[in-house]
Amino acid sequence: MLRRVQVSVGCVVLLGVPIHHVRAQSTVASNVILFVGDGVDDHQLTIARNYLLGADDAFSFEAFPYRAAARVLTVSEQDPGMPEYVGDSASGGTAIAAGVVTSRGRIATRAGNGQPVDTLLELAGRAGKRTGIVTTSSITDATPASFVAHIRRRFCEGPRDMLPTETDPRCPEDLKANGGRGSIAEQLAASGVELLLGGGYRHFTQPDETGVAVLQRVRDAGYRVVRDAGALNEFLGVSGKLMGLFGAGTLPVEWVGEDGRRARRVRLAQDGAPVAPEPFRCVANPEFGNRPTLEAMTRAALTRFEPAPDGFVLMVESASIDKQAHAGNPCGQIGETRALDEAVRVAIEFQNRHPDTLIMVSSDHGHSAQIVPWPSLFAARSEPQYPPGKVARLLTLEGGVMAVSYGTNANYLEEHTGTQVPVYASGPGASEVRGLLQQTDLFRIARAAMRLQ
Ligand SMILES: [Zn+2]
Repeated sequence: MLRRVQVSVGCVVLLGVPIHHVRAQSTVASNVILFVGDGVDDHQLTIARNYLLGADDAFSFEAFPYRAAARVLTVSEQDPGMPEYVGDSASGGTAIAAGVVTSRGRIATRAGNGQPVDTLLELAGRAGKRTGIVTTSSITDATPASFVAHIRRRFCEGPRDMLPTETDPRCPEDLKANGGRGSIAEQLAASGVELLLGGGYRHFTQPDETGVAVLQRVRDAGYRVVRDAGALNEFLGVSGKLMGLFGAGTLPVEWVGEDGRRARRVRLAQDGAPVAPEPFRCVANPEFGNRPTLEAMTRAALTRFEPAPDGFVLMVESASIDKQAHAGNPCGQIGETRALDEAVRVAIEFQNRHPDTLIMVSSDHGHSAQIVPWPSLFAARSEPQYPPGKVARLLTLEGGVMAVSYGTNANYLEEHTGTQVPVYASGPGASEVRGLLQQTDLFRIARAAMRLQ
């Protein structure tokens, strides 16, 4: 049996077997890079993996040494002691960002009483660490907002979005005139977060309660604002706060179905037999335009943070895995899962240069798409057998055909589902990611790894 006889920084010597270049693993993380694949569960990952890599391969983060399942917990707003069984990006984002279980729609506030809760980015900022958010959604959307803002309703993204409608009171208690902190966009402007990259320009052109556009407030707070990939690169080396707004709202997805195809309801032939939807492939979205990809935004953030002796916390979200699953668009969600994987690869390169970096990859809630057999396993029965919702059949690189079914809602968008979600981790503190966790544990693990008070 080998016995450890000497330990020194950068080198471990086992009895009779010197092992060079084995780093003494620190448990303290200077840097945390947290990836959120919005709506990612094992099923959504498997669909993307089958299509992109083949059924027998794995994404970069699936090779991480630590993996867990995280329970997605959310509670009733009216009765915070009562669980709900399906979360949203606000409750899931808040659990990850701030370590508390709250009700759907709430951003870093407690269910029932609305008490604000400190987020990982706020704790890191107070500790003198640099902070950043990268997302393919509006930077005011629920997941990024959960790390920076505190508000009752996730849809109060800009000042005008706060105003009541005939059917919705919106966010009266959060208006500044009523003693609140204002909309999410206003809170981002005042946040001090160094780097905010994503979409959502239209929320910043809205005038605040004093009539001044939020974008002016952003500039007054010292942010340089960039609108395309070229400008992002131009100002990468310039110090100070940087906000990238690369679209009016959610950024376009990288991939779409050939000829715009997505899942559709199964048609029946005259004899009642289901007609197999024609298989198709995924192609690059011609409308993506001159925007930075998630990978490019992640690389930009890490390039900026690399000379950071006091460390940083960076949250990176691939947002449209969720949004495209809502729309029954498998190519959209596959392309955005690919974008997540490519962004994680950039983080792994960074971690190779800076081993004091904890990387975690997880999700806020499960989603709707499922791989189903086509034809049905019960096709020999006399009555026709087919999925009741929408179906797409995708041509895979292995030459196979994968049927993806969406069947969670009859008349509107597909729904989130209530499954637990995976967590992958690598780096200092990652060994805590094992077994069955809660999403709130991600906050706890990151906070402990960085020794944040
Ligand atoms: Zn959703």
